[in-house]
Amino acid sequence: MPEHEEEWNPEEEQSSLRGQGDAHDEKYWENKLTPEQYKVLREKGTEAPFMGQYVHEKADGTYACVACGNPLFSSDAKFDSGTGWPSFDQALPGAVETHADTSHGMTRTEITCARCGSHLGHIFDDGPTGPIGPSHRLGTGKRYCINSVCLDLEEK
Ligand SMILES: [Zn+2]
Repeated sequence: MPEHEEEWNPEEEQSSLRGQGDAHDEKYWENKLTPEQYKVLREKGTEAPFMGQYVHEKADGTYACVACGNPLFSSDAKFDSGTGWPSFDQALPGAVETHADTSHGMTRTEITCARCGSHLGHIFDDGPTGPIGPSHRLGTGKRYCINSVCLDLEEK
């Protein structure tokens, strides 16, 4: 039985790699993003409700990740949730990843950009199930609650 197999600790190796990556990444993002964007995208902050530029946006287009340009949401999926944050009932296929988030004494599902890992917002199960958007398709029942500062609308 080869000894090195017993000594190798994949968990330890992974976390040390991740640690180095983070230090490098955070410098990169600090230079690339505005302080407000950095606070939300990289430190998982939340912008003030009703203050974001896309809360009441109605234009047709695609909302991309402001950090890396990854297309995240179609304007067809946007609805007025009344929460003060841009809300969508679905993301573009493969655009976001979800993670369990138990911070602030709540159990929520965090959404991050599948390409760059930036924090975007949270997903809830109280979205619309009736007709939504210009095509009047039925909503998925999900509510993707997203910070405006994370988004960059490319109008059609
Ligand atoms: Zn991104």
